[in-house]
Amino acid sequence: MKIDIKNLTLSQLVEEFGKFDLPSFRARQIFKWIWQKGIKDWELMTDISKPLRTRLAERYSIGDLKLKARVGSAKEGAVKHLFELAGGERIESVWLKDGTRRTVCVSTQVGCSLGCEFCRTAGMGFVRDLTAGEIAGQVLAISKGQTERITNVVFMGMGEPFLNYEASLNAARILNHDLGLNIGARKITLSTVGIVPQIREFAQEPEQFKLAVSLNAADQETRERIMPIAKRYPLKELIPAVVEFTEIKGKRVTFEYVMLKNINERRKDADNLIMLLAGIPCKINLIPFNPYPESKFQAPSEVDVVRFREWLMPDLPAVTLRKSLGAAILAGCGQLAASSLNEKEK
Ligand code: SAH
Repeated sequence: MKIDIKNLTLSQLVEEFGKFDLPSFRARQIFKWIWQKGIKDWELMTDISKPLRTRLAERYSIGDLKLKARVGSAKEGAVKHLFELAGGERIESVWLKDGTRRTVCVSTQVGCSLGCEFCRTAGMGFVRDLTAGEIAGQVLAISKGQTERITNVVFMGMGEPFLNYEASLNAARILNHDLGLNIGARKITLSTVGIVPQIREFAQEPEQFKLAVSLNAADQETRERIMPIAKRYPLKELIPAVVEFTEIKGKRVTFEYVMLKNINERRKDADNLIMLLAGIPCKINLIPFNPYPESKFQAPSEVDVVRFREWLMPDLPAVTLRKSLGAAILAGCGQLAASSLNEKEK
Protein backbone atom coordinates (compact mmCIF):
# COMPACT_ATOMS: atom_id res chain seq x y z
CA MET A 1 0.00 0.00 0.00
CA LYS A 2 1.14 3.54 -0.71
CA ILE A 3 2.23 5.75 2.15
CA ASP A 4 -0.01 8.79 2.66
CA ILE A 5 2.49 11.61 2.43
CA LYS A 6 0.20 13.86 4.48
CA ASN A 7 0.91 11.82 7.59
CA LEU A 8 4.53 12.95 7.66
CA THR A 9 5.87 16.05 9.36
CA LEU A 10 8.48 17.91 7.37
CA SER A 11 11.35 16.32 9.28
CA GLN A 12 9.86 12.87 8.73
CA LEU A 13 9.49 13.64 5.04
CA VAL A 14 13.13 14.74 4.81
CA GLU A 15 14.14 11.47 6.44
CA GLU A 16 11.86 9.41 4.21
CA PHE A 17 13.19 11.06 1.04
CA GLY A 18 16.73 10.60 2.33
CA LYS A 19 16.27 6.84 1.91
CA PHE A 20 16.00 7.46 -1.83
CA ASP A 21 18.77 10.05 -1.94
CA LEU A 22 16.29 12.82 -2.59
CA PRO A 23 17.63 16.10 -1.23
CA SER A 24 15.81 17.86 1.61
CA PHE A 25 14.76 20.78 -0.59
CA ARG A 26 12.53 18.30 -2.46
CA ALA A 27 10.77 17.47 0.78
CA ARG A 28 10.29 21.18 1.47
CA GLN A 29 8.92 21.81 -2.02
CA ILE A 30 6.40 19.01 -1.76
CA PHE A 31 5.42 19.85 1.81
CA LYS A 32 4.62 23.37 0.60
CA TRP A 33 2.60 22.17 -2.38
CA ILE A 34 0.50 20.03 -0.09
CA TRP A 35 0.08 22.16 3.03
CA GLN A 36 0.36 25.71 1.70
CA LYS A 37 -1.16 25.38 -1.70
CA GLY A 38 -3.49 22.50 -0.89
CA ILE A 39 -2.50 20.59 -4.05
CA LYS A 40 -3.77 17.00 -4.17
CA ASP A 41 -2.43 16.00 -7.56
CA TRP A 42 1.24 15.28 -8.30
CA GLU A 43 0.83 16.51 -11.85
CA LEU A 44 0.19 20.05 -10.60
CA MET A 45 3.57 20.26 -8.85
CA THR A 46 5.13 22.12 -11.70
CA ASP A 47 8.59 22.68 -10.24
CA ILE A 48 9.17 18.92 -10.04
CA SER A 49 10.24 17.00 -13.11
CA LYS A 50 7.78 14.65 -14.76
CA PRO A 51 9.87 11.49 -14.08
CA LEU A 52 10.19 12.38 -10.39
CA ARG A 53 6.48 13.12 -10.12
CA THR A 54 5.74 9.70 -11.58
CA ARG A 55 8.12 8.00 -9.14
CA LEU A 56 6.58 9.83 -6.20
CA ALA A 57 3.04 9.05 -7.29
CA GLU A 58 3.92 5.35 -7.46
CA ARG A 59 5.07 5.30 -3.87
CA TYR A 60 2.97 7.92 -2.08
CA SER A 61 -0.65 8.93 -1.97
CA ILE A 62 -1.97 12.36 -0.99
CA GLY A 63 -4.86 11.77 1.39
CA ASP A 64 -8.01 13.79 1.05
CA LEU A 65 -11.07 14.54 3.12
CA LYS A 66 -14.34 14.73 1.27
CA LEU A 67 -16.50 17.61 2.43
CA LYS A 68 -20.02 16.19 2.65
CA ALA A 69 -21.89 19.02 4.33
CA ARG A 70 -21.52 22.42 5.90
CA VAL A 71 -23.95 23.82 8.46
CA GLY A 72 -24.05 27.40 9.73
CA SER A 73 -22.40 30.47 8.29
CA ALA A 74 -19.46 32.75 8.90
CA LYS A 75 -21.92 35.52 9.75
CA GLU A 76 -23.43 33.45 12.55
CA GLY A 77 -19.91 32.80 13.86
CA ALA A 78 -19.79 29.03 13.55
CA VAL A 79 -19.63 26.62 10.64
CA LYS A 80 -19.71 22.89 11.20
CA HIS A 81 -18.06 20.75 8.54
CA LEU A 82 -18.83 17.11 7.97
CA PHE A 83 -16.02 15.19 6.28
CA GLU A 84 -15.89 11.69 4.90
CA LEU A 85 -12.65 9.72 5.22
CA ALA A 86 -11.25 7.30 2.66
CA GLY A 87 -12.88 4.35 4.44
CA GLY A 88 -16.30 6.05 4.48
CA GLU A 89 -16.19 7.03 8.18
CA ARG A 90 -17.38 10.51 9.03
CA ILE A 91 -15.93 13.16 11.26
CA GLU A 92 -16.77 16.73 12.08
CA SER A 93 -14.78 19.91 12.54
CA VAL A 94 -15.95 23.39 13.43
CA TRP A 95 -14.83 26.83 12.31
CA LEU A 96 -15.48 29.50 14.92
CA LYS A 97 -15.23 33.27 14.85
CA ASP A 98 -14.54 35.16 18.05
CA GLY A 99 -13.29 38.74 17.86
CA THR A 100 -10.20 38.67 15.67
CA ARG A 101 -9.71 34.96 16.27
CA ARG A 102 -10.59 32.35 13.67
CA THR A 103 -10.43 28.98 15.32
CA VAL A 104 -10.80 25.50 13.93
CA CYS A 105 -11.80 22.73 16.32
CA VAL A 106 -10.50 19.39 15.01
CA SER A 107 -11.41 15.78 15.73
CA THR A 108 -8.64 13.31 16.59
CA GLN A 109 -10.57 10.03 16.55
CA VAL A 110 -13.70 8.66 14.90
CA GLY A 111 -15.90 8.34 17.97
CA CYS A 112 -14.35 8.03 21.42
CA SER A 113 -13.72 5.27 23.95
CA LEU A 114 -14.05 7.32 27.12
CA GLY A 115 -17.79 7.45 27.69
CA CYS A 116 -18.07 10.82 29.44
CA GLU A 117 -21.73 11.01 30.49
CA PHE A 118 -22.37 14.50 29.14
CA CYS A 119 -20.67 14.09 25.77
CA ARG A 120 -22.46 13.33 22.57
CA THR A 121 -19.49 11.72 20.84
CA ALA A 122 -19.39 9.13 23.64
CA GLY A 123 -22.64 7.65 22.37
CA MET A 124 -20.93 6.55 19.16
CA GLY A 125 -18.32 4.43 20.88
CA PHE A 126 -14.80 4.22 19.47
CA VAL A 127 -14.30 3.52 15.77
CA ARG A 128 -10.68 4.35 14.98
CA ASP A 129 -7.82 6.79 15.43
CA LEU A 130 -7.33 9.49 12.84
CA THR A 131 -3.95 9.81 11.15
CA ALA A 132 -1.86 12.98 11.41
CA GLY A 133 -2.81 13.84 7.84
CA GLU A 134 -6.50 13.46 8.59
CA ILE A 135 -6.24 15.67 11.68
CA ALA A 136 -4.21 18.49 10.11
CA GLY A 137 -6.16 17.96 6.86
CA GLN A 138 -9.34 19.21 8.55
CA VAL A 139 -7.73 22.63 9.00
CA LEU A 140 -6.37 22.63 5.44
CA ALA A 141 -9.74 21.71 3.96
CA ILE A 142 -11.54 24.39 5.98
CA SER A 143 -8.94 27.05 5.19
CA LYS A 144 -9.41 26.44 1.49
CA GLY A 145 -13.07 27.33 1.74
CA GLN A 146 -12.35 30.54 3.65
CA THR A 147 -10.87 33.86 2.72
CA GLU A 148 -9.83 34.66 6.29
CA ARG A 149 -6.68 33.17 7.74
CA ILE A 150 -7.13 30.59 10.47
CA THR A 151 -5.38 31.86 13.59
CA ASN A 152 -6.02 29.15 16.19
CA VAL A 153 -6.56 25.40 16.34
CA VAL A 154 -8.05 23.49 19.25
CA PHE A 155 -8.01 19.70 19.48
CA MET A 156 -11.46 19.59 21.07
CA GLY A 157 -13.60 17.84 18.51
CA MET A 158 -14.44 14.14 18.55
CA GLY A 159 -12.01 11.87 20.35
CA GLU A 160 -9.19 12.05 22.86
CA PRO A 161 -5.93 13.46 21.47
CA PHE A 162 -3.82 11.90 24.22
CA LEU A 163 -5.07 8.42 23.34
CA ASN A 164 -3.92 9.11 19.78
CA TYR A 165 -0.83 10.93 20.90
CA GLU A 166 1.67 10.57 18.08
CA ALA A 167 -0.76 11.43 15.29
CA SER A 168 -2.14 14.39 17.25
CA LEU A 169 1.30 15.75 17.99
CA ASN A 170 2.48 15.28 14.42
CA ALA A 171 -0.65 17.04 13.19
CA ALA A 172 0.15 19.95 15.53
CA ARG A 173 3.69 20.04 14.08
CA ILE A 174 2.39 20.12 10.52
CA LEU A 175 -0.04 22.93 11.39
CA ASN A 176 2.70 24.86 13.16
CA HIS A 177 5.43 24.61 10.52
CA ASP A 178 6.05 27.77 8.54
CA LEU A 179 6.04 25.77 5.33
CA GLY A 180 2.80 24.16 6.53
CA LEU A 181 -0.15 26.17 7.82
CA ASN A 182 2.14 28.40 9.88
CA ILE A 183 -0.10 28.57 12.94
CA GLY A 184 1.84 29.68 16.04
CA ALA A 185 2.53 26.92 18.59
CA ARG A 186 0.92 29.06 21.28
CA LYS A 187 -2.23 29.16 19.17
CA ILE A 188 -2.52 25.38 19.08
CA THR A 189 -4.20 23.74 22.09
CA LEU A 190 -4.50 20.03 22.81
CA SER A 191 -7.36 19.24 25.14
CA THR A 192 -7.36 16.08 27.24
CA VAL A 193 -9.68 14.34 29.58
CA GLY A 194 -6.60 13.87 31.79
CA ILE A 195 -4.46 10.98 30.52
CA VAL A 196 -1.62 11.34 33.01
CA PRO A 197 1.29 9.58 31.20
CA GLN A 198 0.73 11.64 28.04
CA ILE A 199 0.47 14.89 30.02
CA ARG A 200 3.96 14.08 31.30
CA GLU A 201 5.18 13.22 27.82
CA PHE A 202 3.64 16.40 26.37
CA ALA A 203 5.54 18.46 28.94
CA GLN A 204 8.79 17.11 27.50
CA GLU A 205 8.09 18.08 23.88
CA PRO A 206 10.20 20.93 22.54
CA GLU A 207 7.29 22.94 21.11
CA GLN A 208 5.23 25.46 23.05
CA PHE A 209 1.86 23.90 22.27
CA LYS A 210 -0.77 24.59 24.88
CA LEU A 211 -2.51 22.19 27.20
CA ALA A 212 -6.16 22.20 28.24
CA VAL A 213 -7.53 19.72 30.75
CA SER A 214 -11.20 18.88 30.94
CA LEU A 215 -11.62 18.93 34.69
CA ASN A 216 -15.41 19.22 34.89
CA ALA A 217 -15.54 18.39 38.61
CA ALA A 218 -13.34 19.33 41.55
CA ASP A 219 -13.99 16.30 43.72
CA GLN A 220 -13.11 12.72 42.88
CA GLU A 221 -16.60 11.33 43.46
CA THR A 222 -18.41 13.70 41.09
CA ARG A 223 -15.66 13.40 38.52
CA GLU A 224 -15.90 9.61 38.51
CA ARG A 225 -19.64 9.85 38.14
CA ILE A 226 -19.50 11.96 34.98
CA MET A 227 -16.13 10.83 33.55
CA PRO A 228 -15.36 7.11 33.96
CA ILE A 229 -11.67 7.68 33.07
CA ALA A 230 -11.29 9.51 36.39
CA LYS A 231 -11.10 6.12 38.13
CA ARG A 232 -7.98 5.26 36.17
CA TYR A 233 -6.39 8.71 36.52
CA PRO A 234 -7.70 10.18 39.79
CA LEU A 235 -7.38 13.85 40.69
CA LYS A 236 -4.59 13.08 43.13
CA GLU A 237 -2.45 11.93 40.19
CA LEU A 238 -3.84 14.27 37.55
CA ILE A 239 -3.27 17.55 39.38
CA PRO A 240 0.43 16.90 40.17
CA ALA A 241 1.04 15.98 36.50
CA VAL A 242 -0.57 19.25 35.40
CA VAL A 243 1.46 21.23 37.94
CA GLU A 244 4.60 19.56 36.61
CA PHE A 245 3.61 20.65 33.09
CA THR A 246 3.24 24.29 34.16
CA GLU A 247 6.63 24.14 35.91
CA ILE A 248 8.50 22.57 33.00
CA LYS A 249 6.91 24.83 30.39
CA GLY A 250 6.64 27.94 32.54
CA LYS A 251 3.14 28.35 31.18
CA ARG A 252 -0.41 28.43 32.35
CA VAL A 253 -2.75 25.56 31.71
CA THR A 254 -6.45 25.87 30.93
CA PHE A 255 -8.98 23.88 32.90
CA GLU A 256 -12.24 23.35 31.12
CA TYR A 257 -15.30 23.01 33.28
CA VAL A 258 -18.56 21.92 31.69
CA MET A 259 -21.32 23.18 33.95
CA LEU A 260 -24.09 20.67 34.59
CA LYS A 261 -27.16 21.85 36.48
CA ASN A 262 -27.28 20.55 40.08
CA ILE A 263 -24.23 18.37 39.53
CA ASN A 264 -21.14 20.55 39.65
CA GLU A 265 -22.31 24.16 39.89
CA ARG A 266 -23.24 24.48 43.56
CA ARG A 267 -21.46 26.65 46.14
CA LYS A 268 -19.55 23.68 47.53
CA ASP A 269 -18.34 22.82 44.01
CA ALA A 270 -16.94 26.34 43.67
CA ASP A 271 -15.22 25.97 47.05
CA ASN A 272 -13.75 22.62 46.06
CA LEU A 273 -12.49 24.09 42.82
CA ILE A 274 -10.81 26.96 44.65
CA MET A 275 -9.09 24.53 47.01
CA LEU A 276 -8.02 22.17 44.25
CA LEU A 277 -6.53 24.84 41.98
CA ALA A 278 -5.08 27.23 44.57
CA GLY A 279 -1.61 28.29 43.49
CA ILE A 280 -1.67 26.59 40.08
CA PRO A 281 -0.96 28.97 37.19
CA CYS A 282 -4.14 28.39 35.27
CA LYS A 283 -7.14 29.75 33.51
CA ILE A 284 -10.60 28.29 34.01
CA ASN A 285 -12.92 28.06 31.09
CA LEU A 286 -16.53 27.63 32.16
CA ILE A 287 -18.59 25.93 29.47
CA PRO A 288 -22.33 25.84 30.00
CA PHE A 289 -23.50 22.33 29.11
CA ASN A 290 -24.80 22.10 25.56
CA PRO A 291 -27.87 19.88 25.72
CA TYR A 292 -28.57 17.51 22.84
CA PRO A 293 -31.63 15.39 22.10
CA GLU A 294 -30.88 12.33 24.25
CA SER A 295 -28.75 14.01 26.94
CA LYS A 296 -29.37 13.20 30.60
CA PHE A 297 -28.22 16.51 32.03
CA GLN A 298 -29.59 20.01 32.10
CA ALA A 299 -27.85 23.22 31.22
CA PRO A 300 -27.38 25.77 33.99
CA SER A 301 -29.24 29.05 33.60
CA GLU A 302 -27.32 32.21 32.82
CA VAL A 303 -27.85 33.28 36.42
CA ASP A 304 -26.30 30.00 37.67
CA VAL A 305 -23.27 30.50 35.45
CA VAL A 306 -22.66 34.10 36.46
CA ARG A 307 -23.13 33.24 40.13
CA PHE A 308 -20.67 30.35 39.92
CA ARG A 309 -18.15 32.61 38.28
CA GLU A 310 -18.57 35.19 41.04
CA TRP A 311 -17.94 32.55 43.69
CA LEU A 312 -14.67 31.69 41.99
CA MET A 313 -13.48 35.17 41.06
CA PRO A 314 -11.96 36.40 44.32
CA ASP A 315 -9.65 33.38 44.53
CA LEU A 316 -9.41 32.27 40.92
CA PRO A 317 -9.53 35.44 38.89
CA ALA A 318 -8.75 33.98 35.47
CA VAL A 319 -12.19 32.64 34.69
CA THR A 320 -13.54 32.88 31.17
CA LEU A 321 -16.99 32.03 30.03
CA ARG A 322 -17.33 30.18 26.79
CA LYS A 323 -20.24 31.44 24.83
CA SER A 324 -22.31 28.61 23.49
CA LEU A 325 -21.20 29.52 20.01
CA GLY A 326 -22.49 26.99 17.61
CA ALA A 327 -25.02 25.45 19.95
CA ALA A 328 -27.81 26.26 17.52
CA ILE A 329 -26.20 24.21 14.77
CA LEU A 330 -25.23 21.38 17.12
CA ALA A 331 -21.64 22.40 16.70
CA GLY A 332 -21.03 22.85 20.40
CA CYS A 333 -18.29 20.83 22.01
CA GLY A 334 -19.19 17.25 22.55
CA GLN A 335 -21.95 17.46 20.01
CA LEU A 336 -19.95 16.41 17.05
CA ALA A 337 -20.68 13.61 14.62
CA ALA A 338 -23.58 11.79 16.16
CA SER A 339 -26.18 13.95 14.45
CA SER A 340 -24.69 13.46 11.03
CA LEU A 341 -24.20 9.74 11.63
CA ASN A 342 -27.87 9.46 12.41
CA GLU A 343 -28.65 11.15 9.15
CA LYS A 344 -26.44 8.69 7.35
CA GLU A 345 -28.17 5.73 8.93
CA LYS A 346 -31.63 6.88 7.87
N1 SAH B 1 -11.33 14.38 24.80
C1 SAH B 1 -10.86 15.73 24.89
C2 SAH B 1 -11.28 16.62 23.72
C3 SAH B 1 -12.73 16.54 23.28
S1 SAH B 1 -14.01 17.20 24.31
C4 SAH B 1 -11.28 16.35 26.20
O1 SAH B 1 -12.08 15.75 26.91
O2 SAH B 1 -10.78 17.41 26.55
C5 SAH B 1 -13.77 18.94 24.30
C6 SAH B 1 -14.49 19.66 25.44
O3 SAH B 1 -15.91 19.62 25.28
C7 SAH B 1 -14.22 19.03 26.81
O4 SAH B 1 -13.83 20.04 27.71
C8 SAH B 1 -15.56 18.46 27.21
O5 SAH B 1 -15.68 18.43 28.59
C9 SAH B 1 -16.53 19.40 26.52
N2 SAH B 1 -17.86 18.85 26.30
C10 SAH B 1 -18.19 17.60 25.95
N3 SAH B 1 -19.53 17.47 25.85
C11 SAH B 1 -20.06 18.68 26.10
C12 SAH B 1 -21.40 19.20 26.11
N4 SAH B 1 -22.44 18.43 25.82
N5 SAH B 1 -21.57 20.49 26.42
C13 SAH B 1 -20.51 21.30 26.69
N6 SAH B 1 -19.23 20.87 26.68
C14 SAH B 1 -19.01 19.58 26.38
